[in-house]
Amino acid sequence: MSGTHNFDCNNMVSQIKSDNLNFLNKQVTQWREVINKKFTHDQKPHTTILFGGMTILQDKLVSVALQSLGERYVCLPNADFEAFQIGKAYGNKAQCNPTYFTVGNLIKYLQNLRDKDGLSTKEIIDNYIYVTSGGCGPCRFGMYLTEYRKALRDAGFEGFRVMNFEHDKGVFQSAEEQSALDFTPKFFITLTKAIVIGDLLNILGYKLRPYEIKKGSVDQALKKCEEIVAQAFIQKRSLIKALYKCKKELSLIKLDRTIQKPKVLITGEFWAALTEGDGNYNLHRFLESQGAECVPQPLINRLMLSLWEAKDELEQVHILENRSAKGIDFSALKSRFLIFVGKWALIAHIKLYSKALGLHDYEIPNMEKLAKLAQEYYPMQSRGGEAHLEVAHLLESIKENIAHLVISVKPFGCMPSSSVSDGIQSLVLSHFPEANFLSVETSGEGAVNFYSRVQMALFKAKQLAQEEFKSLKIPDKIPPKINKYTYQPKGKSAGSAAVLMESIS
Ligand code: SF4
Repeated sequence: MSGTHNFDCNNMVSQIKSDNLNFLNKQVTQWREVINKKFTHDQKPHTTILFGGMTILQDKLVSVALQSLGERYVCLPNADFEAFQIGKAYGNKAQCNPTYFTVGNLIKYLQNLRDKDGLSTKEIIDNYIYVTSGGCGPCRFGMYLTEYRKALRDAGFEGFRVMNFEHDKGVFQSAEEQSALDFTPKFFITLTKAIVIGDLLNILGYKLRPYEIKKGSVDQALKKCEEIVAQAFIQKRSLIKALYKCKKELSLIKLDRTIQKPKVLITGEFWAALTEGDGNYNLHRFLESQGAECVPQPLINRLMLSLWEAKDELEQVHILENRSAKGIDFSALKSRFLIFVGKWALIAHIKLYSKALGLHDYEIPNMEKLAKLAQEYYPMQSRGGEAHLEVAHLLESIKENIAHLVISVKPFGCMPSSSVSDGIQSLVLSHFPEANFLSVETSGEGAVNFYSRVQMALFKAKQLAQEEFKSLKIPDKIPPKINKYTYQPKGKSAGSAAVLMESIS
């Protein structure tokens, strides 16, 4: 060392040696997260249970549905870019952006309680808890809860309770997980009903909005439907009757369904494909503004996938452990029975509700069929995220001509979606070069790049839709039934208008 710095090299080396010795002499122990999960029955009357992260409509319906059970559930507002920035400020580096959005959204809400509503930090910690789904996924999903607690601690809410139910366990939560939260079968059945109704109303919204004559009329009708369903939950009245009322509301919307539009199937990582806001740069509304019709990814898909995975796991364990040689396995039989009952109860509700809403052409995802489609390309034991579903959806769309464009949207660096599925999709595309497929990542920033890539793929989708329409014989007289949303014929074309024309030509 030279110059003006007064640097004693020998002294520094001996200091490092002594630090290292001190470190080695210390007993190194495993770091353990201190988790506050205490939520007792006497705390229940004054505790508000926060949750969120589904579509806007579903969050609202779920909160009223659970309030009808006497629970104080409140949904957080839709996560926006500000929430994302808060999540980044307090979160670990290199997390997936659903964590940044959802963690930041919770912190933003708590900060508002403190800074705008004047609650003290202690009051917030004592009187609020947050419930989310967790699980030991093979991707970063397994770390979400720790991430919530870390960010909350750094944001000044140390000890704030984050509780979870495991998304793949359903009603089979452990006693400790249940605490005063009442994760009972009734809770899950009510939750599922609200989720399914939310899904079906959302699907109808995406089906009708591109063809509305008066701008905003579909959203207005959906708002009324939300109110009708919410009242049915609160007053414990028939949900089926409420949905028939919704059908009447939706029937009043004036539509022009003869406009040919490209149909875009949205798939990808669960949250990125589902959310309706900055989390995916408002992908659905952006596509609609560019003249497309979206086929969204409902939460029903995730529920059906969880049931399929649970059944498949049982079968794999049965084979691996050669259980048939060990006699009757009663516990596996019981699990199979419960999965069977859960699946058919879910299907029955979807069928009943979609019929009441006039959504006749909705096909409940057939997990066996999708698994068969994917297995040629996808290692089926590989789990996490949407597992084989992204590959299966693309193959289904190609083989059954479902859409003019398939967009797979995922957070930047998503392990199951970017690293596994997208790798496999390139093989699928090499076998089906005619497919119009776009895989696009979201990072929270970079919207311009995202939109430009979507627009380029959409350009091709528009051309495909035009060619398809031109190849059809359009009758001179269009019957009025065409513009009734309950008229939903099946056809060979992908575009909605083209299918309608097929049905009358
Ligand atoms: S699926 Fe992807 S985005 Fe979701 S938690 Fe896993 S790695 Fe993150």
